[in-house]
Amino acid sequence: MKAETGVRRMLFVTGTRADFGKLKPLIREVAARADFEYQIFATGMHMLSRYGSTIKEIYRSGLEHVYAYLNQDGSVNTQMDLVLANTVQGLGHFVREFPQDLIVVHGDRVETLAGAIVGALNNTLVAHIEGGEVSGTVDELIRHAVTKLSHLHFVANEDAKARLLQMGETCESIFVIGSPDIDAMLSESLPTLDEVRARYGIAFPDYGIVLYHPVTTEVGKVRQQVTNVVSALERSGRNFVVLYPNNDTGADVILEAILRLQNNPRYRILPSMRFEHFLTLLKHSQVLVGNSSSGVREAPVYGVPSVNIGTRQLNRYRYLSIVDVAEDETAILQALDNLPRAVPPSFHFGRGQSAGLFVAALRNPELWCTQRQKQFQDMPGSREARLVTARGLAPAAHVARGWREGRVTRPQSSQ
Ligand code: UDP
Repeated sequence: MKAETGVRRMLFVTGTRADFGKLKPLIREVAARADFEYQIFATGMHMLSRYGSTIKEIYRSGLEHVYAYLNQDGSVNTQMDLVLANTVQGLGHFVREFPQDLIVVHGDRVETLAGAIVGALNNTLVAHIEGGEVSGTVDELIRHAVTKLSHLHFVANEDAKARLLQMGETCESIFVIGSPDIDAMLSESLPTLDEVRARYGIAFPDYGIVLYHPVTTEVGKVRQQVTNVVSALERSGRNFVVLYPNNDTGADVILEAILRLQNNPRYRILPSMRFEHFLTLLKHSQVLVGNSSSGVREAPVYGVPSVNIGTRQLNRYRYLSIVDVAEDETAILQALDNLPRAVPPSFHFGRGQSAGLFVAALRNPELWCTQRQKQFQDMPGSREARLVTARGLAPAAHVARGWREGRVTRPQSSQ
């Protein structure tokens, strides 16, 4: 059918409000073109009432062809390995029933990994959005694993591209398109703050936002960490809109601590907000507190200060508006009392043109001929240097030249 019509079929995999917010502008742009067909595989937190059943947001967006798949039960502490296994199974069934030319995944969730695995194992091209980033928690491991399973990479900036090159990806497979959430952030059609307040019952005039997730690799410390965070919020005397954490291992402990604040009028606790509503709230907030990627990637676009707690965003972008602190009550309080002021917006992750750049890349017929058999690209000079190290031979450049010209014998094993 594809050969006859020339239409390319692509499947977008989404597991959370976070990745859907970023995929949405891309899907919209794809949906507007007659030469593409799309489907949306919606799973993960979207399907759970505890997290606000954000599948509703997908239906509400006006996008069509949504396939909803429940990959876990509603317990707070999910076994991420089982969620991965379930998603691979469901998604595998789906793509064999509805063959795709391209599977599009975003970021670093287990559903992302499932999408990349299913694509790679079914000889289907995989496009990964926002690879090449660095962070803490298990996301770091997942993101880079997804890179190696993906054939095409749509990254936020040149830093991310350089990391992918370092990971052995080819230059031709990497497209710098910026972070797609900035398309939405800079859009003129965001709701007004009054609309947001009315919809979510936010009564206080000034407020900060709290988005705090477990760090899966520090799960034994989560109780103490969240206790310190909540104590600092309490002592700050500020008002806060507090969003539920994601469903990573350890989330139950955080949720328990958050729900204890429920009857205090200084807090408005919400499972999840619509992406555009969240952006408006962020734009007008005094501070974003926690360890969400939003604090390092989105708040700086609006010049809103963030108090970034702990290691979850380790090694990520640093900017004047971001104050890094440990999960220490006093340190968090001090940061809240000394927030950076009048910080100009940062466009480190793009200027809101990702969707157009994404589709422009997809419209190149050569992209669809990308080899399913990937080949690792050595960094220029690295292979020669390794061979030299393995043999304990003299200067790399000298030996490398000799090796290329056949004057030096290549070692049998480079291990
Ligand atoms: N977000 C949202 N609604 C909310 C909270 C966050 O749409 O109620 C968006 C936010 O704009 C950002 C992303 O979700 O794009 C961040 O989500 P989260 O902190 O859950 O995940 P992370 O990216 O840190 O893993």
